[in-house]
Amino acid sequence: MSFRIGSGVDFHQLVVGRELWLGGIHIPAEKGALGHSDADVLLHAICDAMLGALALGDIGTHFPDTSAEFKGIDSKILLERSMALVREEGYRVVNVDSTLCLEKPKIKPYVPQMQDTIATILDLTAKDVSVKATTTEKMGFVGREEGLVAYATVLLERIS
Ligand SMILES: [Zn+2]
Repeated sequence: MSFRIGSGVDFHQLVVGRELWLGGIHIPAEKGALGHSDADVLLHAICDAMLGALALGDIGTHFPDTSAEFKGIDSKILLERSMALVREEGYRVVNVDSTLCLEKPKIKPYVPQMQDTIATILDLTAKDVSVKATTTEKMGFVGREEGLVAYATVLLERIS
């Protein structure tokens, strides 16, 4: 058996007047994440972890934020495309672990829906997709609600 592991991290600013998308889910909030796409920080970190596991570069290489093709794009499409690259390389995803860092809103009620959404795209069950969330105890840019961060780790297994 051949395994590869990858890690990903992503940051976005939080601003008034943008929708907040996390883990493929729209979450009602005062502020949303600023970005070229829908700025789904969690899905971006997972994409980067998948690409990183195979040393395929990063999300910016494959889906440049200078491209009109990706303006306002649903990040679930970026995750699907990252999954296609994993398959092309002969791998499958074994499991995902991730952590969101943001002050508010509370994420817990949305986690099961995020797990289902991510699992469907990655050919997994919700049990294989961990989504955790933490505040930074009011410290730093996350604590000041200026931005949010996501970290992800992904394990891949060779299947062909
Ligand atoms: Zn991003």
